[in-house]
Amino acid sequence: DLSGKTAIITGSNSGIGLGIAWELARAGANVVLNSFTNKEEDHAIASEIASETGVNARYIKADMSQGGECRELIAKAGDCDILVNNAGIQHVAAIPDFPPEKWDAIIAINLSSAFHTSAAALPKMRKAGWGRVINIASAHGLTASPYKSAYIAAKHGIVGLTKTTALETAEEPITANTICPGYVLTPLVEAQIPDTMKEYDMSREDVIKNVMLKRQPSKEFATVEQMGGTCAFLCSDAAAQITGTAISVDGGWTAL
Ligand code: NAD
Repeated sequence: DLSGKTAIITGSNSGIGLGIAWELARAGANVVLNSFTNKEEDHAIASEIASETGVNARYIKADMSQGGECRELIAKAGDCDILVNNAGIQHVAAIPDFPPEKWDAIIAINLSSAFHTSAAALPKMRKAGWGRVINIASAHGLTASPYKSAYIAAKHGIVGLTKTTALETAEEPITANTICPGYVLTPLVEAQIPDTMKEYDMSREDVIKNVMLKRQPSKEFATVEQMGGTCAFLCSDAAAQITGTAISVDGGWTAL
């Protein structure tokens, strides 16, 4: 039961982050949603979670490509018992054609943001005497594929940052772990289908079956609810000695 705890989930107006927010709210945690926009829909999602689950839910705009805004998000949220670093973007291109500004944006949003939010959140967790840092990497935090250089570099970096966070908090009631999802059908994955079709000269169906789920032995997409459930487990007492690990939720991808 997470009642009384506050969870901040970066990049949570869509996809996996939103699924995690729902599951942590269902487990009783107050939730702070985030993205870089400030639309009516963003705040409406928070209201819906609050009215469905009875927890406190807020939406705070902050651009995770800006270190200062990452730190401000944690400051504005007030309490921060659970930090889920989930915001992420993707770009698919061969290294010589990879736009340098895309490289910089992916490293900033997918990797550096977790450093900035953790820096701001750890003192709050220490003060509260309890904390959970959960970083969302990817099967691509442990293995590579062509045409995703920035994403793979950032996700491998997240796995390393998490280990260091775990060691710096090892003697405290704080844990830090990475979740490494395989393919989950979210807007991020949907958006890379056209580029992948181009790179491999394949139909949409073939890209899904023969490229995306080729390395996912279960041949099924993982779900956002499963990511949320894994987060809730990492926040439970059963997981108090689980720290510094990378947990794969990938249908067997990294077993291959
Ligand atoms: P998504 O595009 O649905 O969600 C990404 C979220 O990040 C959105 O809420 C978006 O608004 C937010 N975001 C993007 N740029 C931001 C910024 N500058 N500041 C704040 N928020 C920003 O994608 P998703 O599939 O739900 O991905 C979520 C995370 O899971 C990412 O880190 C992604 O790398 C990771 N992941 C996804 C899959 C998958 O198959 N979908 C697999 C492995 C890992």
